Amino acid sequence: MALPFTIKVLGSGTSAGVPTIGCYCSVCTSADPRDNRLRPSILVCYEGRNVLIDTTPDFRAQALRIRLDHLDAVVFTHSHADHIMGLDDVRPFNFRQKGQIPIYAAPDTMAAIQRCFPYIFDGIKKESNVPQLDARLIDGAPFDLFGLEFLPVPIVHGSQTIYGFRFGAAAYLTDHSDIPPASMDMLRDLDVLFLDALRYKPHPTHSTVERSVKTAGDLRARRTFLTHICHDLGHERAEGLLPPHVRLAYDGLELQVA
Ligand SMILES: [Zn+2]
Ligand SMILES: [Zn+2]
Ligand SMILES: [Zn+2]
Repeated sequence: MALPFTIKVLGSGTSAGVPTIGCYCSVCTSADPRDNRLRPSILVCYEGRNVLIDTTPDFRAQALRIRLDHLDAVVFTHSHADHIMGLDDVRPFNFRQKGQIPIYAAPDTMAAIQRCFPYIFDGIKKESNVPQLDARLIDGAPFDLFGLEFLPVPIVHGSQTIYGFRFGAAAYLTDHSDIPPASMDMLRDLDVLFLDALRYKPHPTHSTVERSVKTAGDLRARRTFLTHICHDLGHERAEGLLPPHVRLAYDGLELQVA
């Protein structure tokens, strides 16, 4: 029997977040809380465990907002700033838990994280506290986290190939411009699917609303949620134009997956 879990959307916004600094468009000034989008991340919760996908520059605010009081592992999709720059803010969990936190990433992603945060990984004793992390490399093989299997799903993000992840009957595919056929085959029989949908206009490294609605139709997950959204999409209006099985993710959205 599959392990039941809860997915908490910590951030549904693109790299700049919404509102975007210096912009006063109708979405950036909207009173609808769903138009407030922190940088993209989800938390997967099961059997008392909390597994985080990506540490955004907003991680501290995201953790405070949901009163996160322990963190068991972090899984990284790729090394762009909007997905890693909050890593230093895991320190309070090290203090509370008195131990290392495992982080999982592909070799190129881990190397970039180690370049961005050399003081975490250089092994030199510091005068003050730094995150205590156990860096674990992933390849394409599935890996177990506390009884739930995480399957890396290769996705194309402009000129790079990065990872989305499938776990149980859910999959989280943030930043992508294309999903190779072999990866599409890894995404059958899903209850919940997250797909990148930056905006309506084409973008070299991101999917669009139109493209991801088509992907949702091809994959036929029971529920598909669009994420990594920029200020071109106001929640209410954009969602009104979508088919019923496709919705916009928003910060604070929680989904139960059996
Ligand atoms: Zn991104
Ligand atoms: Zn704006
Ligand atoms: Zn990216």
